[in-house]
Amino acid sequence: MRRPFARPILVESRVFEMQVLFCASEVAPFAKSGGLADVAGSLPKSLHKLGCDVRIFMPLYRSVRERAPALDPLPQDIIIPIGTHDYHIHLWKSRTESGIPIYFLEKDELYDRSYLYGSPIRGDYEDNAERFIVFSLAVRQLCAAIDWHPSIFHLHDWQTGLVAAYFQTNWRYDPRFGRSGTVFTIHNIAYQGVFPARFFSLTNLPPSAWSPQGIEFWGNCNFLKAGLVYSDFITTVSPRYASEITTRDFGFGLDGVLKERKDSLRGILNGIDINTWDPQTDPSLPRNYSANDLAGKKACKAALCRLAGFVEESCDLPLLGMISRLAAQKGFDLIEEILPDLMKLPVNLVILATGDAAIETNIRDMEKLYPNRLKLVNRYDEEMAHLIEAGADIFLMPSRYEPCGLNQMYSLRYGTIPVVHATGGLDDSVTDVLVHPESGTGFKFYKYEQNAFLETIRSALELLKDARKWVEIQKRAMALDFSWDRSARQYVEVYENVLAAKKELGTRPGPKPGPIGGVVF
Ligand code: ADP
Repeated sequence: MRRPFARPILVESRVFEMQVLFCASEVAPFAKSGGLADVAGSLPKSLHKLGCDVRIFMPLYRSVRERAPALDPLPQDIIIPIGTHDYHIHLWKSRTESGIPIYFLEKDELYDRSYLYGSPIRGDYEDNAERFIVFSLAVRQLCAAIDWHPSIFHLHDWQTGLVAAYFQTNWRYDPRFGRSGTVFTIHNIAYQGVFPARFFSLTNLPPSAWSPQGIEFWGNCNFLKAGLVYSDFITTVSPRYASEITTRDFGFGLDGVLKERKDSLRGILNGIDINTWDPQTDPSLPRNYSANDLAGKKACKAALCRLAGFVEESCDLPLLGMISRLAAQKGFDLIEEILPDLMKLPVNLVILATGDAAIETNIRDMEKLYPNRLKLVNRYDEEMAHLIEAGADIFLMPSRYEPCGLNQMYSLRYGTIPVVHATGGLDDSVTDVLVHPESGTGFKFYKYEQNAFLETIRSALELLKDARKWVEIQKRAMALDFSWDRSARQYVEVYENVLAAKKELGTRPGPKPGPIGGVVF
């Protein structure tokens, strides 16, 4: 019999006996709609450096065909039976830029579409439940096809929640998975994959899973809940968000479930790609700079001021920047509320954002009143995002809630001091200058309301006048370590704890379940 931990790996004189399969519905650069893709694209590389044999599994979307290097077919196809339909599936293999093996599930009728989960006009795809049941069921067959049985299944968001349910109710009885475990990461609890009850029969789960202790959620199927209930351990993308989601205000109905699992829940702050986001080498900037020589930052500000179309005489004013989705979560209600007062202050504000048309209209109305000092750039523009991170003096991130957030970390690294709402990852990554003058790296407002936000911006502007103090804050911010290596070490700890608990338990007692509804899965 194949040992579950086949290949001990020696790193920094520690032995790791871990194979980790990342199951994710999006992985940068192949397919991206949000932060999940960044995590699934970056974390495996750092885990690999720590000695984990990591591989990735994702659907073969249309965007993958456009962005992936050559794909190699796996020799055998797999069949996934769902309801009355058998899905015949091809599997493909490639490697990420950093050499991590990545497997793709090809089923064009399910994944070859313009968008990942739905179109902006028509909304979510009607067959999303089926699309991610198929993907989740295919995980086990992928392992069989490549004869590789991971010790850890690392699952991400609702699209892979069912993998934890399949593992717990069935796969774990397979001796090849006898000591394997599941870790489920919540990237944003607002997205849960909730589907009408009739989809339960398509999941191939045993009837016992249709209960409040299973995937049933107020009469519907909830795929995220499957991940929360059935996984061995749950992580989320910042420590503060881990505690917030156990409360009614932030739990989106799942706070009770998470409270019950609070001993198996940990927040690990995401990292950022410190090579792509480095003011010393960033090719998008007119001039690079470092904490020791901030002169280049002035050139970036001048370039940003020109690009935004602000009048030259106003380019000495403090420049505020924002990069965001135009979405309620991102605090645009506060932005709209403070804009009339903010524009009375001597500042310029540039916002790079796409999304909700109603929010866009409201900001455009204000833009007409202050065309020389307020600019909304309504497109997705990575180059401009880099220039805003470098060229702005102050970065605004007033999110109502924020599981982790990336932009505040980019801005800290670029010496662009953030003003944030003290929530989730924003609270964890920024230290408030007004509370900790000697160690502060940014400004926080604690109550989600316009006066608190505006007053905090005023305080930041006041401090900006003191060049010496401001540079001290910039230097502290730029010295922070947001590398993935730091986060990866914490994930390895989680994996080790899960596996240690399995070893202690030994092979779990209990009979191997028979075929469910005539279907072996
Ligand atoms: P979320 O994942 O909730 O949208 P994050 O702050 O975690 O928010 O990550 C957003 C990512 O998308 C960042 O890398 C940010 O720079 C980028 N981004 C968002 N909107 C734009 C835009 N219009 N143009 C360029 N980059 C953008």
